[in-house]
Amino acid sequence: MSGIGPKRADLLEKELGLKTWEDLLYYFPYKHIDRSRLYRTCELTADMPFVQLRGQFASFEELGEGRKRRLVGHFTDGHGWVDCVWFAGIQYILHSVKLHTDYIIFARPTMFNDRINLSHPDIDVPESLILSQMRMQPYYHTTERMKKAGLSSRSVERFTSTLLRLVLDGVGETLPLYLVERLRLVDLGSALHNVHYPASAEELSKASYRLKFEELFYVQLSVLRYSRLRQGTIRGHVFAKVGDLFNEFFATRLPFELTGAQKRVIREMRADMVSGRQMNRLVQGDVGSGKTMVALMTMLLALDNGYQACIMAPTEILAEQHFATFRNMLGEMPVRVELLTGIVKGKRRNEVLRGLEDGTVQILVGTHAVIEDNVRFRNLGLVVIDEQHRFGVAQRAKLWEKNAVPPHVLVMTATPIPRTLAMTVYGDLDVSLIDELPPGRKPVKTIHMYDNNPDKLYSGINDQISLGRQVYMVYPLVKESQKMDLKNVEEAFVHLQHVFPQYRLSMVHGQMKASDKEAEMQRFISGETQILVATTVIEVGVNVPNASVMVIQNAERFGLSQLHQLRGRVGRGADQSYCVLVTKYQLSKDTRRRIEIMCETNDGFEIAEADLRFRGPGDLEGTQQSGIAFDLKLANLARDGQIVQLARDTASWVLDHDQNLADERNAILVERLRHLKKDEMDWSNIS
Ligand code: ADP
Ligand code: MG
Repeated sequence: MSGIGPKRADLLEKELGLKTWEDLLYYFPYKHIDRSRLYRTCELTADMPFVQLRGQFASFEELGEGRKRRLVGHFTDGHGWVDCVWFAGIQYILHSVKLHTDYIIFARPTMFNDRINLSHPDIDVPESLILSQMRMQPYYHTTERMKKAGLSSRSVERFTSTLLRLVLDGVGETLPLYLVERLRLVDLGSALHNVHYPASAEELSKASYRLKFEELFYVQLSVLRYSRLRQGTIRGHVFAKVGDLFNEFFATRLPFELTGAQKRVIREMRADMVSGRQMNRLVQGDVGSGKTMVALMTMLLALDNGYQACIMAPTEILAEQHFATFRNMLGEMPVRVELLTGIVKGKRRNEVLRGLEDGTVQILVGTHAVIEDNVRFRNLGLVVIDEQHRFGVAQRAKLWEKNAVPPHVLVMTATPIPRTLAMTVYGDLDVSLIDELPPGRKPVKTIHMYDNNPDKLYSGINDQISLGRQVYMVYPLVKESQKMDLKNVEEAFVHLQHVFPQYRLSMVHGQMKASDKEAEMQRFISGETQILVATTVIEVGVNVPNASVMVIQNAERFGLSQLHQLRGRVGRGADQSYCVLVTKYQLSKDTRRRIEIMCETNDGFEIAEADLRFRGPGDLEGTQQSGIAFDLKLANLARDGQIVQLARDTASWVLDHDQNLADERNAILVERLRHLKKDEMDWSNIS
């Protein structure tokens, strides 16, 4: 197909990542607008969505100066008048649009000076639009750069319609026929056509159902096939005994009674680890539910059976804290725990590495540094991944390569993962819930304040500190400008030193040297400082039970899950804790609602659900980050739960009947999986 040209092809690739004809065919519109109906000018109101009119321009008028310069076209259909307005491209309109000639115009009506305005309408000659065939017009996302180069949604529409005309007959099936029939799906050719150019809303929904199913089905097929393979052929270490370390710890060192949920989860993991199969378990427990203890006790089981264990944290601060907690909890017990992060260097690092190789280091605490290639264990039996639910299949697989028999894997997270997402990203993980908080916790009281009245806030902080408590003061990370971010925190630090001359303050932010960060953090943990001024580097995992106040500045800039994680830093002791959300006065409706939800509930699941509704799944853990090479184009994990389930059941059913996909009927599945994974298409490139 010609007509795109190298320049525009280049833009399509750079801006949208569309390289091949297939990419373009699978570049789906984000919405359709029903253009089957013509409105009359006298019917229009300002609250209508897009409308379509047929009529003529009676005159054009150029008005205003400078930035207010605009072209107004007076348009009538014989029933009334509307003003069409252009603020740019005026000359183009004057040259190309004729007076007293029939056009179909299309725009969203607005009200200006008591008259209906249509700004920058689409203009078509009626002959080019066959209304009976133009029922649903596709709208494609484009970018600023594309728009500047004249590549609009309408241009993409022209490409896809030409392309569909040319290739549709040659489109084969990408699912086995027996599945298409069994599930009464529309065939691929019709689905592709109708997802761009449906004749009705029903056709569109059938087409997108088929395509969504297919996307999800292949993800499930891949995930399930892999996990069955793992269960069938990959052996796991057998942790047969509960030994001295576990028992001694339980009897003499455990500082509190385990909650019922903690006990149950430890039992579930023990069952996995004696089964002879490799454990892959996700433990989900709200902030403060005591996951660290569960991790430590599971690691002791590994040690008792002669294996090493390691735990990976998302940040250095958290790794350091786990390290300190473990050393502290284990006390005099004969367990060698070491830390491996970016700041452990030189001689110290070599010592740790050597200890891992000869097996004398039994528990390693670290960051991503522990999956580097030069880190070799003597016999790694268990890996714990803390608060990194993005740590997907591929990264976990990397861990397994470290040993002939792969270690057991425990993933811990406070972020409630919607079931559909868990099935997709973690299709191969078993899930345990810690659905109980340690006793005696008082729910955190959450308060909303505006930033115009800091005195009230400061006096509250003062009251709490004089009771012996500590306070977090958190500032948002300004992504676009790390400098500004720093300025915020540093200025606040200086300011707060003036407000509270009687107290000592610590500060941590992302740009500090790791060793300084650790030192400042340590001053706060030990109680030497009363106020910790920080960016979100303390967002996850940090545990200072004596801190009872979490002040979040510019709370409007945080998402719900982030607010919940931050709030989870307090309420870890027996005292009444407070979370203060400080915002500016002017808030959007959504932001106000977010803040309200935070004030209403402490329940992580409720918050995660609300978050999913607010942000939509687009922001949800991208499946790309999950390590699965699939990219969901149409399916929406939040909305399409039923299709996810159907896809999973179907994939499971297919594998039940043909575990190795050896049946000739399933050849297409094998080929498709390979094709999707390869991520390179056989189709010729766009040019
Ligand atoms: P999270 O699940 O958020 O990682 P932590 O493991 O940091 O939670 O635990 C939060 C706090 O609760 C810690 O101070 C920990 O010592 C304490 N804790 C954990 N389990 C119990 C329990 N069973 N009883 C009392 N306190 C507990
Ligand atoms: Mg934790």
